[in-house]
Amino acid sequence: MKIENFPDDIKEYIIPGESGSLIYRCLDCREEFGIDKLLYTCPSCGKVLLIFDEKSDRLKEIEGSTWRKIFDYRKMINLPALKGIYRFHEFIGPVVPLDSVVYLGEGHTSVVKANEKLTRLSGCDFYFKNDGQNPSASFKDRGMASALSYINYLVQKGATKDILAVCASTGDTSAAAALYSSYLSDSVKSAVLLPHKKVTPQQLSQPLGSGAKVFEIPGVFDDCMKVVENLSENYDVALLNSKNAWRILGQESFSYEIAQDFDYDLKNIVVVVPVGNAGNVTAVMNGFLKFYEAGIIEDLPKIVGVQSKHANPVTKYYSESDPKNRVFKPVKVKASVAQAAMIGNPVSMPRVIYLTEKYNEISQKENVFFVEVTEQEIMDCELIANRNGHIACTQGGESFAGLINARKSGIVSEDETAVVDSTAHAIKFSGFQDLYFGEGFDDEFSVTPDEKLVNKPIYINPNVKSPKKGENLTDEEFNTFVKVVSKDIADLLKL
Ligand SMILES: *Cc1c(COP(=O)(O)O)cnc(C)c1O
Ligand SMILES: [Zn+2]
Repeated sequence: MKIENFPDDIKEYIIPGESGSLIYRCLDCREEFGIDKLLYTCPSCGKVLLIFDEKSDRLKEIEGSTWRKIFDYRKMINLPALKGIYRFHEFIGPVVPLDSVVYLGEGHTSVVKANEKLTRLSGCDFYFKNDGQNPSASFKDRGMASALSYINYLVQKGATKDILAVCASTGDTSAAAALYSSYLSDSVKSAVLLPHKKVTPQQLSQPLGSGAKVFEIPGVFDDCMKVVENLSENYDVALLNSKNAWRILGQESFSYEIAQDFDYDLKNIVVVVPVGNAGNVTAVMNGFLKFYEAGIIEDLPKIVGVQSKHANPVTKYYSESDPKNRVFKPVKVKASVAQAAMIGNPVSMPRVIYLTEKYNEISQKENVFFVEVTEQEIMDCELIANRNGHIACTQGGESFAGLINARKSGIVSEDETAVVDSTAHAIKFSGFQDLYFGEGFDDEFSVTPDEKLVNKPIYINPNVKSPKKGENLTDEEFNTFVKVVSKDIADLLKL
């Protein structure tokens, strides 16, 4: 729709100008720093940062009902910069001019209602939000769109040039980083570090295809992260892991979209997300808090973070019920099918602790929960979901399994409605499905295939001349082949 056709009371708000005043704030020593330089950790104490808008009060000057209209009407404007996560420009990166926004098709992923069969299994209504429908097939694109738009802005205003963007990854961060960097290939090159043999072949192909320098090192993600941290401390590189607070801002769009998907009525809504490095759950909490503080939503939804028993530092931390006795200890991870969340020492843990406390406080009740699931539950839940119309990845299976457990333990009640995050597309993790359907898992995974869920192709090899390489069939021979094969298939299908 053309701008002149928007209603008069909303027209002036549709195309946002630059506003706000963003700063990095250290969550530990509380010191603040300007955003004119890329910072990843506090220059004073080395701890993790979050970006705050010093002028966020201005957002409250616009009525919640007006904001809701702005976002809803923005759906209709054909301006690429506002088609993705920057539809929520004022809440994501208000200092970034629309001309600098990098939009590759991210965000506004589908929300698909579970059928009756799955609803019976979960014990409450729920939807999958399919973040695998982002351009690199995972939610990481949300954060990269934000980080690379900001970098593009710095380049365009001449504050920096020839950026080398680096990240460590369990697979999807590097795919997204390489994709978004390649769009800016004149000014941004990317290099990614992956744990050797701990990412799927599809995930490995992605940064290679986008032209990034790809390094594989021995160990697991936590080891790659240490190397990348060392690189970012000692060399002039731009770190694109979720330690980079710009990533968090972009990932907040997941919450804003859920608000919009449910017409901003989040009473009785539960949002279930897998937790690895904990950037996602951080962003989800922060996003809802920002919309709540601006009066755009009237209720803070319940948050359920899910971890595998094989990579559970966050659930371990919260299993101590007395906050005073909680001590964070990294864990040594074991093999997990939720490989993208197989992280023992989450970088965003201080953010999780800070935001969980704040979220519960503002909710005036316990409203953030962390639950654990087994590897078996993750795999079975992924396969069951996908047999019922979904495209969940293993981490999506983890979220779904987490919802079932949260229902069983009473964290979620039957009159609530859950939004379950499938963080990537099923096909990125099809190798785990192959193991389940085929040769089976190594013992370290502790997954035993349930025969009822196993599915394999059936090869029909009839006892007549067939269209194989080097064989030339007469019309009659070919007709016979078609008939015999049809009969075999009809018999197998009991037609
Ligand atoms: C990165 C990732 C996760 C974990 O997200 P964190 O922000 O690290 O907690 C979960 N699922 C997928 C598919 C991912 O790529
Ligand atoms: Zn500090």
